Parts: sequence; structure tokens; C-alpha cells
Amino acid sequence: AAQRLGTVAMAPPDAILGLTEAFVADAKPNKMNLSVGVYKDASGKTPILECVKQAERKLLEDETTKGYLGIDGLPSYREHVHSLVFGDRVASDRIAVLQTPGGTGALRVASEFLVTQLAPIRIWMSSPTWANHPAIFRAAGLPSETYRYLAADRTSLDVDAMLQDLNEKTSPGEAVLLHACCHNPTGIDPTPEQWKAIAETVAKRRLLPIVDFAYQGFGDGLEQDAVGLHTVLDAVDEAIVCTSFSKNFGLYSERVGAICLVAADSDAMKASQSQLKTIVRTNYSNPPRHGGAIVACVLDDPSLTEMWKSEVEEMRQRITRLRTQFVETMKSTGKGHDFSFLLPQRGMFSFSGLTPMQVDELKHKFGIYIVGSGRINVAGMNENKMPELCEAVASVLES
Ligand code: PLP
Repeated sequence: AAQRLGTVAMAPPDAILGLTEAFVADAKPNKMNLSVGVYKDASGKTPILECVKQAERKLLEDETTKGYLGIDGLPSYREHVHSLVFGDRVASDRIAVLQTPGGTGALRVASEFLVTQLAPIRIWMSSPTWANHPAIFRAAGLPSETYRYLAADRTSLDVDAMLQDLNEKTSPGEAVLLHACCHNPTGIDPTPEQWKAIAETVAKRRLLPIVDFAYQGFGDGLEQDAVGLHTVLDAVDEAIVCTSFSKNFGLYSERVGAICLVAADSDAMKASQSQLKTIVRTNYSNPPRHGGAIVACVLDDPSLTEMWKSEVEEMRQRITRLRTQFVETMKSTGKGHDFSFLLPQRGMFSFSGLTPMQVDELKHKFGIYIVGSGRINVAGMNENKMPELCEAVASVLES
């Protein structure tokens, strides 16, 4: 029989997952994996939150059906997303919330919406950004361009360059991707004043903000992390927000996220909402129930909600503590190298400023795995192994 699949070429491996495979195969006794994008606790595990365990016990008892959810997901889940992301900032008849399989699902639905409803349109992304952003946009047929973000020292935000690119390179009506907080991969977020300038520029250029909100609670706190988003929403009538509970609920594999579309009025919202539902229907039909039901169960219950907030706070503080400890240990054990530029960075990731060659040396000599861009998963560090890590970093900086 004629073969059809013999001509298919191998897809390139996923850069970060490939590093994890190499890490697993590495026999060095003191190896450390600082490459992957998941939270780890002091014992190196990605834990199930206690509030999630309790909610799951409750669901196991109380759940009566595994019947399909509606195309837009669980109503109580959608209400909680609405209040976590927007508070009472925007009139609720202007917002459509659809539960999606993770933040990635939300970004993909958003991309297809832009392509099918607003074409021709390009989306502007920060340089650098999460590697999956351009990949998702490409897969959906959405052309993307980049605006400058990092300063030449690779450790701070060049807001003037960012604003200049948004002012001079974009065309009115195009989309702009913004990270609401805990910018991935740099950990560098705009200050509240910089957010005001960004919001003004977005409004003046009539850009449609697509805000990726994957780390709410990992920066300065659940409410504080929405300040940039709210500043943008105060300046514009229309926006799309893609949220995720992968990190702040530790629900990575349950695929829990949402796309939130803000329109200028209720009629415009309803039309866009109907198109979003069509996109969902032809992709995965309707979202998975379990993860959304966990989030709704926790947030429906005041004591579980309190427990969740304190567990998020614990994760946030652990990351901050590790970042500070790394900077201090670099000063002492790390032979006086000054990494204090990491201190204002927020979220799970930090841009270390290490070059691809230094990253490579860390891997080969010490079994310390970080991403080629120099992005370190701070949550992957370990208090007890900090001196080893800092000695290794100091040694590649000096070689
Ligand atoms: N956006 C950013 C910037 C991310 O880093 C991630 C996860 O790594 C996501 C979105 C989506 O995550 P998920 O699809 O697991 O919810």
C-alpha cells in the first residue's frame, strides 16, 4: 500500500522539556534542575495544595454527574474568575468569561478569535517572551512582531524603548500582548508609574491589549498583581485577559484557565462571546470539569478560600526568600558577585544575565540546568544547596 507518512519530518524538540530529559539522565550527584516552569517546595516536590486536597474530598462525596459542562464552562468557576481578575472594576455585562484548558488554551482561543474576527491583525509581543507565545500565535495563523522590553544590561526594563516601539511601529487596531505580572522569562515587571505610561500608549494607539495573567499571587500578592491590568482596563474599553490556575492553585495537569473578553458594551460582548463559543466548540467542544470544580469549590467556601490565600502567600514568600538568599550567598560564598539586580524581579523566574556559554558550562561541569537565555527557576533552588549553586555560578563567571 502507498505510504503517506514516510515524508513527515521530525519536529524540533521542546527546548525546556529536552533539558529535563538530559537532567534525568545526568549522573552527577549534586545536580539541580532550575529550568522547568513549575513551583517546587523545600523537598523539591511540586505539592498538591491542602485546600485542593480538601476540595477534592468534598467533590468525591458530593459530585453527582460527569455530564458535559456548557461550552463556556462551570458558571460558579466563571464568576470567581471574574471577581479575582476584575473585582468590580468593569460592568459585568461587558465581560464574557469562558473556562479554558489552562492559560495556553485561553491564549489559543484568543488567537483564533483575532484571526477569524479581526483579521488582518498582528500581535506585538515583548522581546523576550515565553517561548510558547509566538508558537501559539503561529499555530493559529496570527502574525506576531516584537517590541523591545529588556534594557541592554539584560537586567531591567527599558520602558522608553518599549513605548517608542508601541508608538512608532504598531498600526492602530493591532493587538499587544502584555504580561500582567511576573514576566516570563525575565521576572522584570513595569512599576505602577510605567504601567500608567504603557496604558496611555495602548489607548492612544488604539491597540487591543491581550493580557497574559498566569502568575496572579506570585509577585506582590493576589490583589497587588492585578494593578497593572487594572491600570490598562481604566484606559481602554476593550481587552482580552488569559488567566491560569496552574501555578497559584498548583493545578498544572488539571488544565484550568479562562479567557475573559471585555467589550465596550453588552451587545458587543454578546457577539464576541458567541464567536468565542464557536471557536471552543470546534476545538475541544467544552472544557474539562474537575480542575474548574476544584477552584469553584475552594472559592465557594470562606475557610477553604482563606487556606488557599495563605498557601499562595507561602509559595510567594518562599520564592522571595530564595531569591534574596541567592543574592546574599553570591556576595559571600560566590566571591562577592553582585546579583542585587535580581531583588526587584518578581515571580518564579529570574534573568540571571548568564550567557549561553556560561549556562552550558554550568550544565557540563556541575549538572546545574538552566535555560540558555539565562532564565533561572528560582522556585527550583534549595536553601540547603545554595552555597554549592553560588560557588558553581561564581566559577563559570570567572572562567
Ligand atoms: N503564560 C505564561 C507566561 C506561562 O508561563 C504559562 C505557563 O508556563 C502559561 C501562560 C500557561 O500555563 P498553563 O497553560 O499551564 O495554564
